[in-house]
Amino acid sequence: MEVLLLSSSVSKLERREEALRHSWFTFLVDGISRACSHQLVRHRPASYSQQSQRYVAMRKFPYVEPESVKGVKVEVNNEEVSFKDLMELIGKFYEKLVEKGVPKEDARFVLPNACTTRIVFTMNGEELVHFLRLRTCSRAQWEIREMAIEILRILRNNFPNLFNNVGPNCYYLGYCTEGKKSCGKPEQVRKFFANLK
Ligand SMILES: Cc1cc2nc3c(=O)[nH]c(=O)nc-3n(C[C@H](O)[C@H](O)[C@H](O)COP(=O)(O)OP(=O)(O)OC[C@H]3O[C@@H](n4cnc5c(N)ncnc54)[C@H](O)[C@@H]3O)c2cc1C
Repeated sequence: MEVLLLSSSVSKLERREEALRHSWFTFLVDGISRACSHQLVRHRPASYSQQSQRYVAMRKFPYVEPESVKGVKVEVNNEEVSFKDLMELIGKFYEKLVEKGVPKEDARFVLPNACTTRIVFTMNGEELVHFLRLRTCSRAQWEIREMAIEILRILRNNFPNLFNNVGPNCYYLGYCTEGKKSCGKPEQVRKFFANLK
């Protein structure tokens, strides 16, 4: 995964809340799975531009392999199949469909959530804080959490006054808001975000 801050426009308004509301940040994220980008685009006060699968050929498509499936094989039709084997099979199937004249916009229906994508998005500071509070939390799915932590790292390095106090709610508010779904390790999490550079 690669995360780049493409541009920013930071307001000089004195009150932090107002400065956040009137500041804009554009990020490029490359190499995340479609599963991850799907979660990102659920955040509504934002603008997105995403690589198209209609026109980009997906031969030997790049994909994200979660740690939990590495080395795992399952039996399918009396054959031991790994995640990698399945991705290769899908890639070949996709390629054959395109060779047979199936339009890429239809052939892409076989591509999995694991397939990587590149996305550019713009959010104002207020929405970024909301996004980071939710997605840096241990409850968030690991890939979007990794992405959110990288975004936060970049923002803290460039705009410490606006983002040094941002992190999951246990860090931002000082208490956990997740109830029974809490990770139960607020001290550990707070320490991690206090030291994040
Ligand atoms: C840990 C976790 C688990 C999740 N699990 C699921 C799941 O199982 N299924 C699922 O479908 N989704 C799930 N989501 C996604 C979630 O439901 C939201 O879609 C996502 O968090 C973005 O919406 P949001 O309300 O946080 O705010 P955003 O879309 O980021 O908007 C920010 C704020 O702007 C305001 N706002 C935005 N749009 C409007 C509007 N149209 N009208 C009024 N106010 C608006 C609201 O105050 C909102 O809180 C999950 C998210 C997290 C963090």
